[in-house]
Amino acid sequence: MNAEFEELYQQVILDHSKRPRNFGPLDGEAIHVDGDNPSCGDEIHLHVRFDSNGGVEEVRFTGMGCAISQASASMMTLKIKGKSGLEAREMLAAFQDLVTEGKLDPPKMLGDLRLLAGVRKFPQRVKCAMLAWRAFEQALHSHQENKGIPSTVSTEESAPHCP
Ligand code: ZN
Repeated sequence: MNAEFEELYQQVILDHSKRPRNFGPLDGEAIHVDGDNPSCGDEIHLHVRFDSNGGVEEVRFTGMGCAISQASASMMTLKIKGKSGLEAREMLAAFQDLVTEGKLDPPKMLGDLRLLAGVRKFPQRVKCAMLAWRAFEQALHSHQENKGIPSTVSTEESAPHCP
């Protein structure tokens, strides 16, 4: 990372973790997914309402944990809200690639989320960054199966403590 990128990264993560967007409960019919990452103590409670075509009509979250987990969740809600199911899935796949594969040229649709590319060097932080996305993946899954029942995901394996 160059210094400029590093500074922008710090600013954006800090901003989103201090003032998370779309933070709070979601009233009405919605799919609720609880995600946790015990190795770091991160929790995400994701609430998603899909429209009749499977698009993301509304998405909100509550949670607590490290700055990366909360900032990633906040940025994710901004990006996937209003997207079709297909677009949201593309976003999920692109973000996962970004933080694991390390593609040199991440898709522009990810916007500020591209700043999280640096976490791929730190497997513990990848779990933090992916937590909200795993929860969203589960929400897509639940919606598809038309269950809408609460579910839980975890990014825990057996891992040492988060830095
Ligand atoms: Zn974390």
